[in-house]
Amino acid sequence: MLDNLFSRLEEIYPELVELRRDFHMYPELSHTEVNTPKKIAAYLESLGIDVKTGVGGRGVVGTLEGGKPGKTIALRADFDALPIQEETDVPYKSQVPGVMHACGHDLHTAALLGVAKVLSEIKDEIPGTIKFIHQFAEEVTPGGAQPMIADGCLDGVDMIYGAHVMSTEEYGTVSVKEGYASTAQDDFNIVIRGKGGHGSEPHLTVDPLVTGSQLVVNLQQIVSRRVNPLQAAVVTVGSFISGGANNIIPDTATIKGTVRTYDEEARSIIEAAMEQVTKATCAANGASVDFEYVKDCPSIYNDPDETKRVAEIGARLFGKENLITGIPMAGSEDFSYYQKEIPGVYFTVGGKNAAIGADYPHHHPKFNIDERAIVNIGKMFVSLVLG
Ligand code: MN
Repeated sequence: MLDNLFSRLEEIYPELVELRRDFHMYPELSHTEVNTPKKIAAYLESLGIDVKTGVGGRGVVGTLEGGKPGKTIALRADFDALPIQEETDVPYKSQVPGVMHACGHDLHTAALLGVAKVLSEIKDEIPGTIKFIHQFAEEVTPGGAQPMIADGCLDGVDMIYGAHVMSTEEYGTVSVKEGYASTAQDDFNIVIRGKGGHGSEPHLTVDPLVTGSQLVVNLQQIVSRRVNPLQAAVVTVGSFISGGANNIIPDTATIKGTVRTYDEEARSIIEAAMEQVTKATCAANGASVDFEYVKDCPSIYNDPDETKRVAEIGARLFGKENLITGIPMAGSEDFSYYQKEIPGVYFTVGGKNAAIGADYPHHHPKFNIDERAIVNIGKMFVSLVLG
């Protein structure tokens, strides 16, 4: 059965390329997607798949009931684009000024629609139910995953899989990492409130600039002294704004930065330690402080047993030498919110091909990708559903 599905994916490849190129030519920014979800819904409906639109706002969920009993499996693809002016010379270049599919979400969408098509053709033989989760707004915070979950897109779902095509990994490869596989991204905003005055009379002031300087240094000890050295973590102060003149002690200092962690444990330790160190440093200097810690996406956490399955299928399809394991993904990905609810695996599929100029990084104005990755994502998804 799998071989037949693979052949069907190859057969409909030209149609999927056409779909992908259409999404590419008419990209829509996160939270403003109108026509993309309409096209997705129309395509799924044409396959006889039950479709729900407006899920969590702009999401589309297709449900395909198989003819045999089994689990409910969700497959997810994102469909938003980026505020980038495309600089490629491809004939299907973006027709929307300043907006571009520079991350490959157009390809993810085409691949998932292809999977929906070939699975709908053998509906009666499918065990269980397949949910096609087409997610809006992956590129921004807040993104589309949380509202889609709140709107019930995971109701009754046992397992979820997601894939990202990569222009940084060779075409023909697949990569998956067990456990924590991307960093959680959090931000912090600190406003130190002192008491300004003349630079010649520091004893009459509470200097937020000196307090802030101590704080920046004290924050360096959080990762080095509080976090288990086996748990990678970063605390970076990216902005320190205070004062403006040679002879004025300012009233306030504003410090901003970012925190990256894999483990939830390290993440909680850092959040608590940052608040403690910030408040204590400010109190020790007589300054007051507003401390804000903003939690963004958690880390991707790939279910260990299912990761083994993904790796086995990847090796079977593309050869052991083309299976990459154990390497974390760059950046954060709101697929992690689905994995907070149910077990799942997020993996990447190679789309790099220097011969056709598909070797620029993601989010680059010349980003391009080997479109044959559509079929590879498709093969992985159908194998995970049926294999
Ligand atoms: Mn992306």
